[in-house]
Amino acid sequence: MERVNILYRGPLSSCNYSCHYCPFAKRRETASELVHDRDCLKRFVRWLEVRTHRQHGVLFTPWGEALVRSWYRAAIVQLSHMEHVARVAIQTNLSATLNWLNEANLERVAFWCTFHPQEVTRARFLRQCQRLETAGARYSVGCVGLPQHADEIRSLRDELPAHVYLWINAYKSKDRPTDERLSELFTQIDALYPVNAKYHQSRGQECDTGRTTVSVDGQGNIRRCHFVQEILGNMYEQELDALLFRRPCPNATCGCHIGYVHMPALKLKPLFRQNILERILSSS
Ligand code: SF4
Ligand code: SF4
Repeated sequence: MERVNILYRGPLSSCNYSCHYCPFAKRRETASELVHDRDCLKRFVRWLEVRTHRQHGVLFTPWGEALVRSWYRAAIVQLSHMEHVARVAIQTNLSATLNWLNEANLERVAFWCTFHPQEVTRARFLRQCQRLETAGARYSVGCVGLPQHADEIRSLRDELPAHVYLWINAYKSKDRPTDERLSELFTQIDALYPVNAKYHQSRGQECDTGRTTVSVDGQGNIRRCHFVQEILGNMYEQELDALLFRRPCPNATCGCHIGYVHMPALKLKPLFRQNILERILSSS
């Protein structure tokens, strides 16, 4: 049976950073909202704990930053010890403590780390990367390709271990003409930058979301991906396996790596293979 990847996005929607382009910047939640998020996550972990009939992968893709919350760290540790969870990964700004790493099975844990030069110094971010490195944890590192961060991104590349994949997300803005020199620099650093810099025509195209990868919210509602709002079913009321089958993409375009990486036409999956959730190139 093929592995099924679940992109979990619970109600949490807050962050300790304040990136100017982000709606979750410095957003705070009430105590009861946080308790609700924790309860949703616990329910998800309990659900997955007994789904031993096939291999699963989990990627936490929160609105905001989740690793600063103890219940996400506990969930990662718990899931990493389940034989049927091949991979548990999280998108993070890497600001949280990493003292818990030795409790996890690092064969299965991975990190999709984003560097925000306006929020944290490169030295501090690299110290956190070094902690992952020393612990033997799997991770990718990336940055939003803002022109004002070009020097920081170049330095980050120089200072990261050579084996670590540094991805760059294009800052797509209708008001900003393409800067060819910047594109060239970013493409030298991340050969897949040009793939990220465009919106891929996707309507009617094959996409493996809804078959091998799904997006799940805190209530258990299943969508094929984060970008198609149609609900396929609910994991707490229906068997997930029964909802998994091939469907063409209904959206006009797909412009996010987390989505278009599942389009067979782009031939990206073979580049990431079993590390697809944490965005690590299989050659790195
Ligand atoms: S670190 Fe991420 S979630 Fe937090 S404000 Fe910046 S972009 Fe938003
Ligand atoms: S191509 Fe993108 S938008 Fe379309 S179904 Fe796949 S991930 Fe979703």
